[in-house]
Amino acid sequence: MDPFLLFEERLLVPYLCAEYEECNEHNFIDYAKTYGFDVATLILKGDNHSAKDLDDLAAFLQAWLVFGLLRRVLGPSDMSVRLEDLVSGLNSDETESVNCKPGNELSELQHSRVDTAGLVLYFMYWIAKESHVDDPERRDRLWAQHVATLKMTNSVVNDLIAWRSRYYPIQDGGKGDVPVLDSIILSIVLLSEYVLATSRAIFSDHSWSLEWGLDNALLSRLLRAGWCPGEATVLHNKFIHSTSLYIVGGFDRHSLNKDHSRCSKDECVANNIDESVYKTKHVSDDCNCAHVGEANDNHPSASQLLREGSIPVIKVYSSGSRSRGKVTISVQDYTKAPYVAISHVWSDGLGNANANTLPRCQLRRLQGYVNCLYPKSFHPVPFWIDTICVPLERQVRKTAIRRMGQTYKNADSVLVIDSWLNQTGLDGPRAVDLLKVKSCTWTQRLWTLQEALLAQANQLYFQTPEGPLVESELAYGPRDMGIGIMERIIGSEDDNLHEVYPDVAKTMILALSNRHDIERKVSKYLDDKIYFDHGGDPDYPFRNFHMLREINSWLSHGFILVEGRNFFNNMRWRAAGKSNAPFIEANTLSVVGESMKNRMTSKAEDEPLCLATLLGQDPKDILEEKSVQERMKLVVSRIGHVSAYIIFSRCQRIDEEGYRWAPLSFRENSKMYSPGVSFTTVGQVCDKGLLVRLGGIVLENDDTHNVPSEFLVSVGSDLLFARIDGEMMYPGRPVCKGWALVLRDSNGLSVTGSEAVLVELLGEDDGVFLAAFRTHYYVSPAIQDSARKEGIIPGRIMGNQQWCVG
Ligand SMILES: [Zn+2]
Ligand SMILES: [Zn+2]
Repeated sequence: MDPFLLFEERLLVPYLCAEYEECNEHNFIDYAKTYGFDVATLILKGDNHSAKDLDDLAAFLQAWLVFGLLRRVLGPSDMSVRLEDLVSGLNSDETESVNCKPGNELSELQHSRVDTAGLVLYFMYWIAKESHVDDPERRDRLWAQHVATLKMTNSVVNDLIAWRSRYYPIQDGGKGDVPVLDSIILSIVLLSEYVLATSRAIFSDHSWSLEWGLDNALLSRLLRAGWCPGEATVLHNKFIHSTSLYIVGGFDRHSLNKDHSRCSKDECVANNIDESVYKTKHVSDDCNCAHVGEANDNHPSASQLLREGSIPVIKVYSSGSRSRGKVTISVQDYTKAPYVAISHVWSDGLGNANANTLPRCQLRRLQGYVNCLYPKSFHPVPFWIDTICVPLERQVRKTAIRRMGQTYKNADSVLVIDSWLNQTGLDGPRAVDLLKVKSCTWTQRLWTLQEALLAQANQLYFQTPEGPLVESELAYGPRDMGIGIMERIIGSEDDNLHEVYPDVAKTMILALSNRHDIERKVSKYLDDKIYFDHGGDPDYPFRNFHMLREINSWLSHGFILVEGRNFFNNMRWRAAGKSNAPFIEANTLSVVGESMKNRMTSKAEDEPLCLATLLGQDPKDILEEKSVQERMKLVVSRIGHVSAYIIFSRCQRIDEEGYRWAPLSFRENSKMYSPGVSFTTVGQVCDKGLLVRLGGIVLENDDTHNVPSEFLVSVGSDLLFARIDGEMMYPGRPVCKGWALVLRDSNGLSVTGSEAVLVELLGEDDGVFLAAFRTHYYVSPAIQDSARKEGIIPGRIMGNQQWCVG
């Protein structure tokens, strides 16, 4: 894969908007009105549009939100957009086919197409040009303008995406041609993300991203790559950028040969295990070598070691030829030598539901992988794999599961074997490799989370065709090639812009050739602590330094890299268990919960088990309970302290009085939900609920049965507007004495509003309000409206009240 994705994996769409008047920075806002475009009317008509209408719409959107958007953001930086740089085949008769076919009326335009590769130069020149402008006021103004432009684009396009997927859903599981309109929509989405990433590099380091619906063209791309509809839904919820999804849609998943025939849009079940039909796989499909279990010799057995309080690990000895030689397994105590714990997903075929055995070919392969992690003198390196080391016999099995946390914590290293990563490898640009890890089956599963979280620092390895790759190399290794790409392009014959902006080109070329000098100077400036006052130094190095750094980061897909790294770092956040730092301990549940998001498991009741292990709890009594809810109650009742914000979390809750503050599952597959980390306010778990100290509003209405879904509430001289913000509603309790809204951010109330939960007040105990959770609300400042004075509910602000939410 080319180090720069826009060259290799570019989106090609037909050039459609030749007939439209140029849209630019000045007429951008009124452009839609000029052409009578109204997204609401469009949606109202549902699927009642002629093919011609849809083609016209595609052309108009390209004029407005592709070329218009580009001119709108580049215009203020005195850069013009030339069609010949972005549209190929503009003046030729070539009839190369494009990856989306236009409608009938547009086929004659097929020979010219918009090519995202041309954008790379524009963005490089944009960064270079702006990084030498020293005007903070202008920078803030342009940033605000670009944000507004992108937000508007985002809102229009998300409406279009929802309309298209409802009334024009993709056909044939994505195999058919993608309609031109859908391709144009995707091109706007990707362009917007690039514009935002570049604007941020230039004007602001503000961390903010756009959220897009899953558009038809992107969905088709994912399905064509071999992701199933359920996986596509999860990926869309899990990934921040559509550009990331676009890259993920370029990976081949067909080679995995998994059965997605029972999957739906809501769920992928291909990796769930049905033990009655589960088949252990051999290294190759045509192999049928014998299975091997632990040898009956003088060594202690795995079960015996577990009963004695130890953890069994194994060594595989093989002799003779690959096909006929002897393979034996010897079991030993984990403390005897450093061992490797293997982390795999059962659907890849390394499990066995009927016996503690594996085929000889797999055992040889595993021992080979594990040996690669250590020098020869340590071979054969002992390792742990659940298939052999967790006995099937019920009681010992429970013991082994209880010791799972210890197993991974005590391992010298953890080796991840995901069959897809082991096929495709992790040798591309870092940004792409991290997306592979973020999307692979191994990170889709629940059990592998603890294996990832508990591995020792920098001792997590990924098996690839080239051998094991250590995590630090994956996340931070030197595979970012931005500067190299820049050197290759700027001033070359591919650089269409160097004659248009000769000064900018000169600056870039000069900075590239003086790169080391600039870095030296910068570090001297930093040593002398004079980075603010450059005293008119004509060689002031920082601008060139920033320019090179930002272009390098941009060409290395910095924003995608950050997304992948954040995901990875979250997964490697080590569960502290019992820690003396109350705020960190209190957030453990939230952070672990955040990492559980979007993960799947064959058995829902395994989640509390994993959670307990990650929280450092002994899951002994959890194993005795059957239901998810009873198991979860045990976990949360032992937790002691937890972030107070967890009461605002939008996951499904434990449906029992006293527990409604607590999640039933973190694996909610939704973009919206976050378990809420807080470093300022911690709740304490007690038998009636969660004790929290938060602001709130006590409603002084007489109706103890009902609260309207929307109402105005007056507190002092302020008027607030409260509206319901969720569907969950638990039955009211007979003892309800009144209502209150508990606020997440009572300070922000007068400006932006705050998330809130509606609670029933059940009584007061030593200054603590006993409160029963009902549902989510949002409270914001009301626009004063004298006509609506009636029906206003008077309220009393409680600044820092103790609530017991249950
Ligand atoms: Zn599936
Ligand atoms: Zn075999």
